[in-house]
Amino acid sequence: MARYSGADCRLCRREGIKLFLKGDRCYSDKCAMERRPYPPGMAGKKRPRDSEYRLQLREKQKAKRIYGLLEKQFRNYYKLATRMPGITGENLLRLLETRLDNVVYRLGFAASRDEARQMVRHGHFLVDGRRVDIPSYRVKPGQTIAVSPKAKDLTVIKAALISSSKMEIPAWLEVDMEKLQGKILSLPSREQIDAPVREQLIVELYSK
Ligand code: SF4
Repeated sequence: MARYSGADCRLCRREGIKLFLKGDRCYSDKCAMERRPYPPGMAGKKRPRDSEYRLQLREKQKAKRIYGLLEKQFRNYYKLATRMPGITGENLLRLLETRLDNVVYRLGFAASRDEARQMVRHGHFLVDGRRVDIPSYRVKPGQTIAVSPKAKDLTVIKAALISSSKMEIPAWLEVDMEKLQGKILSLPSREQIDAPVREQLIVELYSK
């Protein structure tokens, strides 16, 4: 599957906000947003004026980058969200949050979504006891996500557990760090999704 392969920190600097794409580094003083909190190539220059379109575009780009998706995948989620009952913007965020790679990250089994995606692809997680290696797999309330027995001793998992101790587990998830397994208690409400995204601007952009 195609994915963005450029420098992650440039994405944060472009959006003017920490997107937490690089695990531990994001919490350290090596974070590029701490050192150079201006867009790439804009040292000493003013940011361009914010037109309505620019605000909408930036919000969409930010959401795409947080969840590590390319345009086509992101737009497909939007189309699906429009067909669901309820508020389209909230549906969109809920669809993104319930991707298996995001849930693995939220449970603290990976230091970043990117790392979670790789580990899922390598088959390191079980959903209700069965191996699932599709990062976009949509989890449902009541399901359990567990680190596979073979993966429990992997260095990458141990490092992720240390790194994720700084993160808060959202209330719609429950985790048992002894067993290295988590449970989906419910679908997340908008208040339980802490992604710094104004989803209504994304809906306005795609509705044009
Ligand atoms: Fe963004 Fe993390 Fe890089 Fe900081 S270290 S700029 S939060 S990806």
